[in-house]
Amino acid sequence: MTSYKELGLVNTREMFAKAVAGGYAIPAFNFNTLEQMQAIVQAAVETKSPVIMQVSKGARNYANGTILRYMAQGAVEYAKELGCEKPQIVLHLDHGDSFELCKDCIDNGFSSVMFDGSSLPYEENIRITKQVVEYAHAHDVTVEAELGVLAGVEDEVASEVSHYTKPEEVVDFSTRSGCDSLAISIGTSHGAYKFTPEQCTRDPKTGKLVPPPLAFDILHEIEKKLPGFPIVLHGSSSVPQDEVDTINAHGGKLPDAVGIPEEQLREASKSAVCKINIDSDSRLAMTAAIRKHFDEKPGDFDPRQYLKPARENMKKMYIHKIVEVLGSNDKL
Ligand SMILES: [Zn+2]
Repeated sequence: MTSYKELGLVNTREMFAKAVAGGYAIPAFNFNTLEQMQAIVQAAVETKSPVIMQVSKGARNYANGTILRYMAQGAVEYAKELGCEKPQIVLHLDHGDSFELCKDCIDNGFSSVMFDGSSLPYEENIRITKQVVEYAHAHDVTVEAELGVLAGVEDEVASEVSHYTKPEEVVDFSTRSGCDSLAISIGTSHGAYKFTPEQCTRDPKTGKLVPPPLAFDILHEIEKKLPGFPIVLHGSSSVPQDEVDTINAHGGKLPDAVGIPEEQLREASKSAVCKINIDSDSRLAMTAAIRKHFDEKPGDFDPRQYLKPARENMKKMYIHKIVEVLGSNDKL
């Protein structure tokens, strides 16, 4: 048993309370490589932002749970070395699919876990979420739950269609499950292809896809029913067009990739939404930099030569999200 407290990590309780009261959102960046971790920590330290570093089950299998635990501890120590006296870093399990996986993470240094029972029948979702909450709270670990289904593909989480969260269920669900935060479905979506061209309109000037707007009416209804309760948005990458264009200009093939417009995420951050998940944008920033590098310097073969610009590009993206979209800068 390794408690996250020994690693210098924090849970989300205080962080979320401050974010809801302050009208901003905490960035939740997925990571599984050294360069992503370094870029996240550098961005958080430079902007004085709290940060959630999250891993999915697939990422944990890829990177190894033991290594990730020490990377999170390394992230805390690195932040201090960079001059941050009291880093606020959460190690979070993204889309835990069983009590056993959540327990294993809690026993191995995670300070926050998500149990995603959104594909289960309602009562079953409550039952297992509650089981996770009881174990987690005994170890002062916070729990995110999910109601409603997001469309899109994220590692092993995939759904063809989305089902918006039903506002009439949120009070019963959060009260009976005891969860600390709730991921809702209001039209965000996993992956770099969040909407099909049929779901979008096309900008007549640029020919680019314009996605349908998020269901802010549902978000506001949920806020009214659960005043001050921390709400989470998954699948909230913006899929920046310049990164997609760079990838496509250097041998990539991402036709019609489309994300959530940043103005909408900015608006959501000011509400009870206090955690916004961003994964695809980091993947795109990394891939764009690497593709460009290989194209321009085909003779390079030292990984540091192309991973350095990849790290720089991710860091730039993380800083942009923190300062221009979520507003979590200068909060430490
Ligand atoms: Zn997700």
